[in-house]
Amino acid sequence: RIGFWVDTDDAYWTMDPDYIESVWWILKQLWDKHLLEEDFKVVPYCPRCETSLSSHEQHYAGSYQTVTDPSVYVRFPLRDDPTSALLVWTTTPWTLLANMAAAVGEDITYVRVADPEDDGKFLILAQERVEALLGEDVEIVQELRGGELVGLAYEPPFGFVEPGDAGHTVRGGDFVSTEDGSGIVHLAPYGEDDMMVARRDGLPITQMVDSTGHVASSGGRFAGMWFKDADKAIVDDMDERGVLLRSELFEHSYPHCWRCGTPLIYYARRDWYIRTSQLRDRLFASNENVNWQPPTIKHGRFGDWLANNVDWSLSRDRYWGTPLPIWRCEDRHATCVGSRAELSELTGEDHSALDPHRPFVDRITFDCPDCGKLATRVTSVIDVWFDSGAMPFAQWHYPFENNDAFERRFPADFISEGIDQTRGWFYSLLAIGTMIEGRSSFDNVVCLGLLVDPEGRKMSKSLGNVIDPWMVLEDYGADAMRWQLLTGGSPWQARRIGTQMIQESLRKYLLTLWNTYSFWVTYASLEGFDPSAVEIPVGERSEIDRWVLAELDDTVREVTASLDRFDATRGGRRIERFVDDLSNWYVRRSRRRFWNTGAQEPGQEGRIGFDTQCAFLTLWECLSTVARLTAPFTPFVADEIYTNLMSSDPTAPDSVHLTGWPQPDDARRDDSLRTGMQLVRKVVALGRSARTEAKVRVRQPLQRALVVVPSTEAGGLEPLRPLVADELNVKSVEIAAGLEELVDYSIKPNFKTLGPRFGRDVKEVAKALADADAHTIVRAVEDGGTATVAVGGTDVELSAHDLDIRVSGRPGFSLAQDGPHGIALDLELTDELVAEGIAREVVRGVQDLRKSSGLEVDDRIELWLTAGGRAPEALEAHRELIASEVLATSVTIGAPAPSGEPARATIEVEDVTVEAALRKS
Ligand SMILES: [Zn+2]
Ligand SMILES: [Zn+2]
Repeated sequence: RIGFWVDTDDAYWTMDPDYIESVWWILKQLWDKHLLEEDFKVVPYCPRCETSLSSHEQHYAGSYQTVTDPSVYVRFPLRDDPTSALLVWTTTPWTLLANMAAAVGEDITYVRVADPEDDGKFLILAQERVEALLGEDVEIVQELRGGELVGLAYEPPFGFVEPGDAGHTVRGGDFVSTEDGSGIVHLAPYGEDDMMVARRDGLPITQMVDSTGHVASSGGRFAGMWFKDADKAIVDDMDERGVLLRSELFEHSYPHCWRCGTPLIYYARRDWYIRTSQLRDRLFASNENVNWQPPTIKHGRFGDWLANNVDWSLSRDRYWGTPLPIWRCEDRHATCVGSRAELSELTGEDHSALDPHRPFVDRITFDCPDCGKLATRVTSVIDVWFDSGAMPFAQWHYPFENNDAFERRFPADFISEGIDQTRGWFYSLLAIGTMIEGRSSFDNVVCLGLLVDPEGRKMSKSLGNVIDPWMVLEDYGADAMRWQLLTGGSPWQARRIGTQMIQESLRKYLLTLWNTYSFWVTYASLEGFDPSAVEIPVGERSEIDRWVLAELDDTVREVTASLDRFDATRGGRRIERFVDDLSNWYVRRSRRRFWNTGAQEPGQEGRIGFDTQCAFLTLWECLSTVARLTAPFTPFVADEIYTNLMSSDPTAPDSVHLTGWPQPDDARRDDSLRTGMQLVRKVVALGRSARTEAKVRVRQPLQRALVVVPSTEAGGLEPLRPLVADELNVKSVEIAAGLEELVDYSIKPNFKTLGPRFGRDVKEVAKALADADAHTIVRAVEDGGTATVAVGGTDVELSAHDLDIRVSGRPGFSLAQDGPHGIALDLELTDELVAEGIAREVVRGVQDLRKSSGLEVDDRIELWLTAGGRAPEALEAHRELIASEVLATSVTIGAPAPSGEPARATIEVEDVTVEAALRKS
């Protein structure tokens, strides 16, 4: 219905077992390159619901509640100097069980002060927090930069976590502030900052609270406690051991599960990642080879996205999806499986017909290749965007089969989607293509913008400004909608669209094309013209034929180049311009050539005259080529026009969509003719406005036109003068040497500038200007020069600013001018010209009468004309002209028409009234 080719017979489904197997194969490639790894990610987590919450769920209304929590200050004694202890603050004592390290700001100033509760001992804390925590009378023993503390080892409050190389030491962190607490932050695997340092410095990550919110079995006397209940036991325990400096309760706002109201934990969960951040340079390189439309996306939106690339979070806790093909034993040895065959080998069972979805895949286990213990699949499925990006491979079940098809089609020539896909499909395709094949999966990408209403507002039901596409298709057709979308503006900009715009594109382009086409069909069938039976070398055809074919070829070249760059807007607009040229210049100028005048020449009866054949053939070539050019834009109209134009050629393809793309014919290239014709049209447009200005009727012939063009262009205009004369209805066109031949100037002083300069003498200046040759002065001040005039015996210099120059046409002429181009029409009317004017108005009136009487275009008529005054003389003088124009076999002037039957009309020409009557002869 909208002219969209889609191969539903060979559709791919991301849930097909073969598709999934290809995805597994890709993941195995990444696994082998150490690009697929498990890592921690901190997520808001409800331990009661045992589920992580998305970041927006965390902000649901009512999620934040004011609660009372302990606020505790704990001593972390330094290992090398047990008399000094770091003072650490936390509001979640349960996290101390999993303490990894302590963080300081490297540029913050810390101090060592006497411990107010323990003689001979010292505390270390931020200088800015001393007064708030310990009061004013504190003796500062030493001042330290935070950086000096980094690396010091300390004794953690609990010994449940093995420290490894970096654990239980002071680390630097730019997130540490001195706004509250002690300026020293306790790090545990329950926060973004904590995990950032842990990853950076290799801290020990040990979860001391399990996924149900209870303290792990390794948690000594706290094991099995609900994490919030453990707070009090932990505080008491530290107090007994003298580790606690102070414990208070404080109120603060804390996020809770919106489902069940349980306080959330910022839980470091293990997730599977693809290490795309390690491939940044390769992703950049792939992007360099992609042609983006619009080009700004490449280094803008998409480039930024690549520059800020973070690892691709792959695993999802869902049931439905492509299962992550990783199996693991209790010792955490992981095995990545890249195919069903590999799975069969590992299990010793035949899994070639496996449906790889859950729950089936979860039932498959095998002995761990590393240790022989039972390996079970990790329960995750993968991000659906990975499925989408795997499409170039997985749609072919590559590399298990169809390797030829894959190699032929990878990478894709082009993809097109909404601009929001920079982080979606555009990225997933580019990233997977780069990781597997070392290049993007597509060469060109066209980003599409959103459609908005004519006022630029988003379409929405509540505003009532939604355009129903089915209604548009019904009322205007798919081609009109397509044309508007393709040529109305850049496809990647947010586009305003309304039914009026679609109507406009229908009128401006499609109806013009259609009318031109039906003009050809009407006359060609009238004359029985068969394009496939005629061959006329271009060189033998008339000027306007050669011109339109040269324009056609130029159009083919430009449209081809535009479409090669995926710029449909520019290409479409070029076609539109050509169709306008074809209709409003070529056909209009050639109209009478299509009336087969040749057939009336002696010995040629019944045959189509040579010039008529040229016109038919040329217009046919233009239309059939335009049909092919417009086929991708307006497929339905194009096909209709093409198949009908080709109906007499049995060798032609059945559809325009099965033809090749048009090629320009370099032999008929004629740029000087094109330039000349452009000049003609410019001059003609000026001539029309000169005629309108003078209020002279279009059909009133004029004696002559004087034309001025720059000397470089005059040569191109010379041979086309008859065209200008005919188009402007003047008897002759003369090329004048310069504008001064067309105009008169009157030059007065500009009193604003010359008054102050000359005072009373300005009158002398005015007199000098009146005496000088106006054309010489105008030429001199043109382009910023100065003119010299003699005032009272001295020469003075005057610039254009000093002058008030008025231009007027010469008396008896009507002038129109645009920059260096100008035309003047001689308005003097002789009796002959007036007579011809009357005759031409009568022709127009009779043509109207023919049409309203329902005559066919080739019907011959008998005509009677009666009039008073000087009209009969004028009609008599132009009897031949009238007869041939209106296809009259007889013209009776002065005698009344037989009563009854004939159609009649009154034709008014200024003060003359002509009565016309006609009947089919
Ligand atoms: Zn919950
Ligand atoms: Zn194992």
